[in-house]
Amino acid sequence: MPEKFDVIVVGAGPAGIACAYELAKAGVNVLLIERGEYPGSKNVMGGVLYRKMMEEIVPDFHKEAPLERPIVEQRFMMMDKSSAVTFSYKGMEWASEPFNNFTVLRAKFDQWFASKAVEKGALLLNETVVLECIVEDGKIVGVRTDRPDGELRADVVVLADGVNSLLAKSLGFHKEFRPDEVALATMEVLKLDKKIIEDRFNLEEGQGCTIELFGDATKGILGTGFLYTNKDTLSIGVGTLLSGLIKHKIKPYELMEYVKTHPMIRPYIHSAEPQEYLAHLIPEGGYHSMPKVVAAGVLVVGDAAQLVNAIHREGSNMAMTSGRLAAETIIAAMSRGDFSEPSLDEYRKKLMGSFVGQDLKKYKDATHHFDKFPQYFEQYIPMVNRAASQMLTVDGASKREKQKKIWRDIGPAKEKFKIARDLFRAWKVMK
Ligand code: FAD
Repeated sequence: MPEKFDVIVVGAGPAGIACAYELAKAGVNVLLIERGEYPGSKNVMGGVLYRKMMEEIVPDFHKEAPLERPIVEQRFMMMDKSSAVTFSYKGMEWASEPFNNFTVLRAKFDQWFASKAVEKGALLLNETVVLECIVEDGKIVGVRTDRPDGELRADVVVLADGVNSLLAKSLGFHKEFRPDEVALATMEVLKLDKKIIEDRFNLEEGQGCTIELFGDATKGILGTGFLYTNKDTLSIGVGTLLSGLIKHKIKPYELMEYVKTHPMIRPYIHSAEPQEYLAHLIPEGGYHSMPKVVAAGVLVVGDAAQLVNAIHREGSNMAMTSGRLAAETIIAAMSRGDFSEPSLDEYRKKLMGSFVGQDLKKYKDATHHFDKFPQYFEQYIPMVNRAASQMLTVDGASKREKQKKIWRDIGPAKEKFKIARDLFRAWKVMK
């Protein structure tokens, strides 16, 4: 007779662990299955963890979790080939409790987070791949794993198996994602002395900074780069839609090398030693690409449900919130003894009513818009850089002359009209 649990959660990333933690806390008999050697061993993230959503699960987590640095400054670099227009926000309210967000290294963080779920009573099974869901009478009743006695039963199965969830796909919840629905990101962790990091990034002891890179960091392809400070390492990465890589015939590692040697980035990472190289997909299709997330006996959470806000590089927070909401729904369904689709649909309603659904809806057309009109990254960011260079170079020309030249350089009236129209369109998809 296969073993029976109340709930089986597949995948020990932020979504799955959050779900297992909340269920175990409520006394539910939950099994968390992870294919990696340990939670986090297969997981990749630039590294910004959001305090609020984590705290809703483990209050005061920052006192014991393996965090790298609290972020006190967020910079945004609009890059051209040898220049950048940068803006930033730095606030000392982020340097102390309650903090805003933190950099983390997932291999350490996920292990710690999973250990908290185990402390609450969840059973963690590592190095086990879930091959498929078991369906009986139109209801999910368990999973089949690659273990010798691999069949496990449960009232509910939670799919938290990450982007491109093969399990959700095999249930017919989504098709193979198109290249314009997923980004491929590569990142490196570079070792650098703690004091050098603080001097280079203008930080006081223990504080952290994030830099998001736009424009030439991706050679104008829709995507972003990032450079984040950890305790004694830097995380640097670049990601673009797969469709962009295919169209421009660029390999991800070529983009990575390009960013690392870019004159705006090189000085930050000078003499830093590569420690790790990672690559991963990011679901960026947003609201329109969300698969079915509920059926009888099954819920889909986190990246597996395409819950990523690519505009604000938020994913881990959406994953955790979806895991928590799934757990709440299951606990209520258990009290009714009803695991049918209408009963579990409470999860979808809660999700869409939360910041997760609201933000996905707000930016529902953004990725597709910027993908369709590449001029924002290819043309307008270099244009802003040229204008800044002209305006800020003191060469004897009057400021009014400079303004006129910048205006002339934009091109004929037709071109100016096109830019105005594009700005209006951008405002419409972002508002
Ligand atoms: P995952 O973290 O992918 O976890 C899924 C887990 O399921 C994995 O542990 C995997 O091994 C396991 N698994 C998969 N299939 C099976 C199976 N069949 N059987 C058993 N186990 C299985 N988000 C942020 O909030 N901030 C950032 O700064 C940020 N930066 C990012 C940078 C990069 C380069 C990338 C790639 C992503 C970034 N994200 C960021 C997004 C964030 O990492 C994800 O949104 C988040 O990890 C999703 O969590 P998850 O639990 O849904 O999936």
